Amino acid sequence: MSKKTKIGIIGAGPAGLFSAMQLIRNLSSKNISISIFDKGLSLEDRTKNIPCLKNDGICKKCNTCKILCGFGGSGLINDGKLVFSKEFGGNLQDILTNAHFNMYEKLSKGLYLSFIDGHTNGWYRSNNFPDWKRKVNKAGLDLLKGDYFHLGSDRALKVLESIYTFLKKDSRVDFRFGHDVLFVNKEGNRFSVQYYLEKADEHYTDKFDYLIVSPGRLGNSWFTNTAIGKSLDYFISPLDIGVRVELPYYVVDTIAKDLYEFKI
Ligand SMILES: Cc1cc2nc3c(=O)[nH]c(=O)nc-3n(C[C@H](O)[C@H](O)[C@H](O)COP(=O)(O)OP(=O)(O)OC[C@H]3O[C@@H](n4cnc5c(N)ncnc54)[C@H](O)[C@@H]3O)c2cc1C
Repeated sequence: MSKKTKIGIIGAGPAGLFSAMQLIRNLSSKNISISIFDKGLSLEDRTKNIPCLKNDGICKKCNTCKILCGFGGSGLINDGKLVFSKEFGGNLQDILTNAHFNMYEKLSKGLYLSFIDGHTNGWYRSNNFPDWKRKVNKAGLDLLKGDYFHLGSDRALKVLESIYTFLKKDSRVDFRFGHDVLFVNKEGNRFSVQYYLEKADEHYTDKFDYLIVSPGRLGNSWFTNTAIGKSLDYFISPLDIGVRVELPYYVVDTIAKDLYEFKI
């Protein structure tokens, strides 16, 4: 029997989870294993332990780790907006060709939609965009193009639950929560991952044939200081900072029927 191919993923945020889903869907071989490391909690433990997810919506001042780490990453307590834009929210278009950008956009949309279970009414596209852009340009400003998928916090959590169930029921996937990865290294053709397991207060090392590192903003400085991180070319993508203006619908209805959460 041929040797099992071991794949490691660091980070159970959207990037790590989408990678795992895509691998599971495309690799029919039973001879692979996918280990997903995250220093935070499982979905059950996270939802049980984040008080504001449970009831009154009042901030209980949880520590950062509970809010940003674990299944769903920092995307667990958001309102489920998936934005597709080449003009804001990152610089993917600078590192991908147009064809690749469009392919990944289609792929991630398709993956996300397949877990939404009929709640497809939340897709917001820009209508009459060139007309609105012209009007905004006349005022000396610019209108940025984006299409949105908006689920709302409750549905976003349900979608994450169905992703969790899908991955957990596949025997090739092994979630490793409470595993804080300290070092990653390349040894020959394999990757060694050293982690600290809080529960056992012990350090362990595991080896993988392939490694996906997706530790989010929180793990960015950790990864860029590892040997592998130091050997890679990378750039920091900008943070979009803006002023959010909320107006009653009757004030903006002519624009809002065409554009959703538009950015100027
Ligand atoms: C309050 C809030 C609201 C948001 N709302 C939206 C929204 O509506 N729509 C939207 O598109 N985006 C939203 N975002 C942004 C979105 O959450 C992030 O863009 C997204 O989570 C990034 O995904 P990621 O997988 O790259 O990283 P993350 O989600 O940050 O996941 C990284 C994971 O890696 C783990 N990790 C890091 N280092 C290690 C290590 N050394 N060992 C083990 N595990 C490690 C962390 O515990 C974490 O779980 C929001 C963010 C916040 C904070």
